[in-house]
Amino acid sequence: MTITNNGGALSTRVDIAIRGIRVAAPVHREGGAGPSDDGHVLFQGMQSAIPVNQDSPYLVDDGKLLLDGEDTGLEVSPVSRPAFYDLATADGTPYEQIARLHGAKVLATTVVQTCIRYAEIERCRFCSIEESLASGATIAVKTPAMIAEVAEAAWRLDGIEQMVMTTGTSNGRDRGATHLARCVRAIKAAVPDLMIQVQCEPPADLQTITDLYEAGARSIGIHVESMDDDVRRHWMPGKSRVPLDEYRAAWREAVRVFGRNQVSTYLLVGMGEDPDQLVAGAQELIDMGVYPFVVPFRPIRGTLATDVDRVPAPPRSVLHDVTLRVSQALIAAGMRGSDQKAGCAACGACSALQTAGG
Ligand code: SF4
Repeated sequence: MTITNNGGALSTRVDIAIRGIRVAAPVHREGGAGPSDDGHVLFQGMQSAIPVNQDSPYLVDDGKLLLDGEDTGLEVSPVSRPAFYDLATADGTPYEQIARLHGAKVLATTVVQTCIRYAEIERCRFCSIEESLASGATIAVKTPAMIAEVAEAAWRLDGIEQMVMTTGTSNGRDRGATHLARCVRAIKAAVPDLMIQVQCEPPADLQTITDLYEAGARSIGIHVESMDDDVRRHWMPGKSRVPLDEYRAAWREAVRVFGRNQVSTYLLVGMGEDPDQLVAGAQELIDMGVYPFVVPFRPIRGTLATDVDRVPAPPRSVLHDVTLRVSQALIAAGMRGSDQKAGCAACGACSALQTAGG
């Protein structure tokens, strides 16, 4: 087995994921579904979404990463603002409110920016999906035509290579997947070669997974965030009512339909889980053909974890250990994020796994 942990690069990648960097990043996110409040850069040529923190000892200067003023020997450069951000639809909606550039080559959107689980008693404690709506940074529902229009422009003007589409969870049995499928069809009609990943909760009717594939999606993320039921109940009171076995059934069906290593899930580090149990959970996923996308919990304004619970980022040593062990398991299984056709694992920006070779 070849283990390319990339030595110091991995340690530094983990360190900046926790401590952030000082950089002027034209491509950035505030609020929204999943990790945010970050700047998008190339770290050693790899797409990376790193917290921007004016108190960090790391500074990006002229393509170099400095630590306390000393050159680390590592290259970091901000991603440039894409040309499609300057456009708007015929009714005046800025393209930037419909879909955003993630990393350097990924177009990302949340097709429905509301979630049935957003009441405080139900909400995932790390999520701020409706905050970007409240701030006016996006719109509640994106139509298939709107998204296709933006995808075509981003493909043509900025050379995006893949697209990620997520959704807040809806009330229906499909948990939002039907609207996702309509959006995928519209995008594929406009840009046939664009690879698309869809992200949703396990649909009650597993046929929905085939529907998403037939619409044209080629990777799928079904995100559990933790394989520990105690952690799930505390951090995701609403979502934890979907039993883990329902996730397992959806992952198995997704691997059958989309193929091995075209299915992924997030695993968050820093929610109080046991690291050995987290790695064991990741191994179970890998054995199923599912890529565990290991991402640190990040304190983000507008989330319950930050505003109410004051949960800090995880210790660097824990994130380093878990990332290294999971990347070794991925390498042993021959599963690399970059082999996914689209999606977060293919992008890699929110995780240090790709720096570790996973
Ligand atoms: S890993 Fe996923 S959420 Fe993170 S920047 Fe890439 S596409 Fe966006």
